[in-house]
Amino acid sequence: MSRMASCIFCKIIKGEIPSMKVFESEKTFAFLDINPLSAGHALVIPKHHGAKLTDIPDDSLTELLPVAKKIALATGAEQFNILQNNGRMAHQLVDHVHIHMIPKPNETEGLGIQWPQQ
Ligand code: IMP
Repeated sequence: MSRMASCIFCKIIKGEIPSMKVFESEKTFAFLDINPLSAGHALVIPKHHGAKLTDIPDDSLTELLPVAKKIALATGAEQFNILQNNGRMAHQLVDHVHIHMIPKPNETEGLGIQWPQQ
């Protein structure tokens, strides 16, 4: 089986594994992390399969940050981390490029998440 055929994030894009989708376009897909570090923790991925940032053509990367920004705004979080790991020593567990958007909720008010329309 090819790496792409066995990739869990490729299966999520195809709908073969369920996910909490928060955004989709021709080149990009975003969904909630199954093991969130905070409410609204989302992953933004290119539909083009590649393990590391250096494996992906530039035109498949251009939407990733704008989509992460859109999702950050939708969570209402004023503070958040954007994180992208490449390789095991860099703590990458899933070998399909992904950007983490991790909100830092206001502890007293929480998040008033309103996801954008699909
Ligand atoms: P990494 O360490 O940057 O590779 O992060 C991989 C992320 O993917 C982790 O935060 C996992 O919780 C998340 N993850 C793994 N499998 C799934 C899934 O099936 N659905 C949603 N998130 C997942």
